[in-house]
Amino acid sequence: MSLTDFQVFDTDLSTEALEQYLKSDAIAVDTETMGLLPQRDRLCLVQLCNAEGQVSVLRILRGQTAAPNLKQLLEQTSTVKIFHFARFDLATLRYHLDIQVNPFFCTKIASKLARTYSPKHGLKDVVLELEQVELDKSAQSSDWGNAANLSEQQLRYAANDVRYLPSLRLKLIEMLKREERWELAQSCFQCLPTIVQLDLLQYPNIFEH
Ligand code: MN
Repeated sequence: MSLTDFQVFDTDLSTEALEQYLKSDAIAVDTETMGLLPQRDRLCLVQLCNAEGQVSVLRILRGQTAAPNLKQLLEQTSTVKIFHFARFDLATLRYHLDIQVNPFFCTKIASKLARTYSPKHGLKDVVLELEQVELDKSAQSSDWGNAANLSEQQLRYAANDVRYLPSLRLKLIEMLKREERWELAQSCFQCLPTIVQLDLLQYPNIFEH
């Protein structure tokens, strides 16, 4: 795979790319940040991929507080946004770009409900089992802050994190329906925005004893 497999944008999607993605009924989304705390760690990249495998990588600037085209896509109700561990991405997109992602699908929640025979629900594990592809996660913990000069390895890693999600979603929905767990999965997705809100308000786990 080469760099030509995806487009890189600065600060927001182009109108042309937005129009293209708005036609999709499902879009994969991932983010790369400086760390795990939205209040401390800035958002550096947002990656998108449709079912046709068209990947876009958006570079977000330090201090940037809006991306109107991205917001339009992520809030469009006719397009399901697919994440792996949506809890984090929803929080960082809401905190930094004021985006209320809706509707969405989380492949990690779906995997935990569908693949109860396995303790492994990392993206690498799920992609290996359901897509028979070995993901290279070696750039996972890297400096995403230098977005203007990302290495080819970083860009390839960022693109690969969204590439398999549309297919994973379809396979997981099939498994969830087969095991009669699809409605439970949908209930879990429905309550996630509340959990994200609690995370952003820095409440501890209020459901614990
Ligand atoms: Mn990622």
